Amino acid sequence: MRLNLKQIAACTGGSFSVEPLDACVIATGLTWDSRDVKPGDVYLALPGERVDGHDFVAAALRAGAVCALVMQPIDPSVQMLARELGAAVIEVPDTAHAVTDLAREWRGHLKGRIIALTGSTGKTTTKNLVRDVLAASHTVVATAGNQNNELGVPKTLLNAQPETQAVVVEMGMRGLGQLADLCDFVRPDWGIVVNVGESHIELLGNRQNIARAKAELLCALPEGTGRAFVNADDDFASYVRDHACLDKRRVDTVLFDGSLQAADRRAAFSEQDRANASVWAERIELDDQGRPCFMLHACGFAEDGAHEAVACSLNLRGLHNVSNACVAAAVGRSFGMSLHDVAGALAKAEPEAGRQEVIEARGGFTVVNDAYNANPDSMRASLSTFCSLNVSGKRIAVLGDMGELGDYALACHAGIGRLAAGLPLDRLVCVGELAQVIADAAEESGMEPGRIVRAAALSEVLDCLDDCVEPGDAVLVKASHFMGLERVVKGLVN
Ligand code: ATP
Ligand code: MG
Repeated sequence: MRLNLKQIAACTGGSFSVEPLDACVIATGLTWDSRDVKPGDVYLALPGERVDGHDFVAAALRAGAVCALVMQPIDPSVQMLARELGAAVIEVPDTAHAVTDLAREWRGHLKGRIIALTGSTGKTTTKNLVRDVLAASHTVVATAGNQNNELGVPKTLLNAQPETQAVVVEMGMRGLGQLADLCDFVRPDWGIVVNVGESHIELLGNRQNIARAKAELLCALPEGTGRAFVNADDDFASYVRDHACLDKRRVDTVLFDGSLQAADRRAAFSEQDRANASVWAERIELDDQGRPCFMLHACGFAEDGAHEAVACSLNLRGLHNVSNACVAAAVGRSFGMSLHDVAGALAKAEPEAGRQEVIEARGGFTVVNDAYNANPDSMRASLSTFCSLNVSGKRIAVLGDMGELGDYALACHAGIGRLAAGLPLDRLVCVGELAQVIADAAEESGMEPGRIVRAAALSEVLDCLDDCVEPGDAVLVKASHFMGLERVVKGLVN
């Protein structure tokens, strides 16, 4: 960002409690972590649960912040330090809200295309693929890591320059109205709904509400120039499209379909859908490491609406990534990139840590680190990908609780247990309270009791793995983030 101190005070509704030496000084970045401050940054003092950002204003100013945004009066000694350094202190009604105010102001300066992306599962993975495809021939700024909330989203916009050609913004949500609030200042040009699954069903009650919440992103697209990317493989696709009134509002729709049934489904598309651009995959195969290769098809992008196809392979594992890759291809092709260049960029894309990250451990066995997070969709995808790996030894799945499923929790965990029972797993290690339901359902569905391990704590998991993992084995580790299963990965790898 490039906003001067006067603009910052004006757009945040703040007032200078310490006047800067020069109010026309331009701030070039924003952070709420005083350890990350670079000269020229704005430091935002956020009141946290454990630490209060107001305690670090002095450190931020010493590190070169040109301005601190605060929501309570600061110590006279810190005010004096600001004066000595010529920096400003601006008192605002609410610092968390100020970051949105700054992003709203800065959004007006951005000339590139803003692409917002949401979905139940695979947002970060898909955001990275879109970023990597576009970056092959454009300047791109994308959400860093998983910063997809009411702080991370504005931060992404503030990281862009006016001339940045594409800004890819991952948006998370836990309830109705949240995406609408984010879109209010992001004002996306294009919008992607990766899929509509079951995560956050605890708060939203049912999948229809989840679909309505996701549709808010598409509702925000501008008429005439807006472009919506919708998953044709999703049973809520039509609901999302209708709910966002895409057809009535003249918002272009691009359908993507990375499923094994894509070719059949496309043949059955309505005339209107066929007139729309679409991207799909055919002849999908997984190599012995679970990496997909397939024919990537696109139709309706060239002026004559020609059908194009190119061979494509991914360095990411699992069938579900074909769908994610189709999103990135649809966006890249919409940007005017050739399908050939899109496939070249997709082939080079690397997975993000903790998402089906394959680690060769020193003991001669493989660890699939999927401990970053889990919901029923990603658990299913992860298990089937794991079972597609070529493994000379045993396949051991360590599964923990999936959170935020509310009334659906027992049924969802039981479903995973039934699925596991039918898969070629040599050991199923279940850790956590809800994961015991996985173990019970697996046993009821015919998995031999001797292959099932019930663990109450991570230390028990590590003891069990210590006893049974041998060279040539593969171990999958997956659960919701709060379970902390990355500690199991560390224990296995170190
Ligand atoms: P969060 O809600 O935490 O931001 P996310 O939506 O960004 O999650 P990712 O971090 O990309 O999702 O992936 C989470 C898990 O989902 C990983 O295990 C990943 O392998 C799996 N996954 C990725 N894409 C899909 C998909 N399209 N369908 C099912 N599972 C997927
Ligand atoms: Mg994410």
